[in-house]
Amino acid sequence: MTYQHSIRKPYISELAELDKKHYLHPTTVPKLHVENGPKLTFSEGEGIYVKCLNGESYIDGLSMLWNVNIGHGNKELAETAKAQMSKLAFSSSFAGFSNEPAVHLAEKLSTMAPGDLNSVFFTSGGSESNDTAFKLARFYWKLQGLPDKRKIIALKQSYHGVTIGAQTATAIPAFHLFSGSGMTEVFHATAHVTNCELGDKSDPNYKGCIRDIVEREGADTIAAIIMEPVQGSGGVHMPPDGYLQAVRKLCDEFNILFIADEVICGFGRTGEMFGVDNWGVVPDLMCVAKGISSGYSQLGGVLLKEKIHDTIVQYDEVLAHGFTYSGHPTACAVALKNIEILERNQVVENVKDMEIVLEDGFNYLKEKHPTVTKSRALGLLSAFELYADREEGIPFDQSILSATEVVEECFKRKLILRPLVSNVGRNIVAIAPPLIINKQQVEEIISILDDAISVFEKKYL
Ligand code: PMP
Repeated sequence: MTYQHSIRKPYISELAELDKKHYLHPTTVPKLHVENGPKLTFSEGEGIYVKCLNGESYIDGLSMLWNVNIGHGNKELAETAKAQMSKLAFSSSFAGFSNEPAVHLAEKLSTMAPGDLNSVFFTSGGSESNDTAFKLARFYWKLQGLPDKRKIIALKQSYHGVTIGAQTATAIPAFHLFSGSGMTEVFHATAHVTNCELGDKSDPNYKGCIRDIVEREGADTIAAIIMEPVQGSGGVHMPPDGYLQAVRKLCDEFNILFIADEVICGFGRTGEMFGVDNWGVVPDLMCVAKGISSGYSQLGGVLLKEKIHDTIVQYDEVLAHGFTYSGHPTACAVALKNIEILERNQVVENVKDMEIVLEDGFNYLKEKHPTVTKSRALGLLSAFELYADREEGIPFDQSILSATEVVEECFKRKLILRPLVSNVGRNIVAIAPPLIINKQQVEEIISILDDAISVFEKKYL
């Protein structure tokens, strides 16, 4: 043991130096990274816990990037990857080639998905799925003889990824500041204004809602509307009941495709297999990634309604779109096993039970801490906000990064969470642990939050 420690410390700092020099990190402040080195270097995981090279263990309160739904260290998934890699690690899906896991996964997804979303185009992740959905939507209209239907409507506060198409649809300013470039013909509508989408023009929010944009631009120029059933990185915003149905109705009325971005919501996160299932809505295209493989393999996909599939399969030239890793056999085998485990272990039912424990925890925090407000949870997709005066609706001064401070206090107590930005500052704390979490572990998260918020309130109240 002593011997191991003595070689480990120099190794960790050596690795940090290599990291600073050679590894440009995604969604990280580059200057801080080269000054400070990596915040943590993960080396192992088990259930809801991740362990670092320095031997410290943390609760993964955000399932890493909202994706490790089945939890860390699942040996069955590791064995599945090993078996498939030993047999056939990779094969092409271009030019009509196929492989067993991809076909089985495609069939399985069609039985799980709502309505007649019965076929899938595989990708390697969420951004690729959303870009693919935009292209498929435009292509579908082109094949229907309506090539002018090209525009895409996304919602304010949405996150759809970082490839040029997905990034343009993303409505978080930092992602636009980075490149400044974007796809043309994308519009951002006010989110979650049900009455407006149902046609109430007297509603003060009408200007800028989806319906308003459709009327202004002309339905004959609009290909699709994309939305997350519950908005994730943009602040964990729940749609009011009836909203998704209202948008579905609007899409039918104006002949526009409904794209559901299920990249976070899919595969049990919200207490139903897919986010849209909470409202009984069937989209025309459904983008999945993350939870499909619980992050054990890089995989995404776009599920297509039969009317779209049937139109596209009439095309007798090359469908000139595809990723090297579309239908990756190992990734698909892992996803199939992940879904089998979700079903066998009734993980989605557990999510529903844990939502209740989490809500109780939020109520406790709100009773004890005057800064805690606006808590919300659908399954294990949850958040709360911090306000200087919640009764009067007065936020903290924007210079106080309240959520960042609370998340840092949690971090000191070995809990990883994520601060998010609202329209009043960085005051949203997001919580989305692995779906296999148990009651005692949810309570542990609440207890750490309790201590962290106490420290914050002592400083600022
Ligand atoms: N859509 C949503 C809703 C997401 O949350 C994300 C990732 N956070 C993406 C798309 C992009 O997925 P990826 O990072 O796999 O490209």
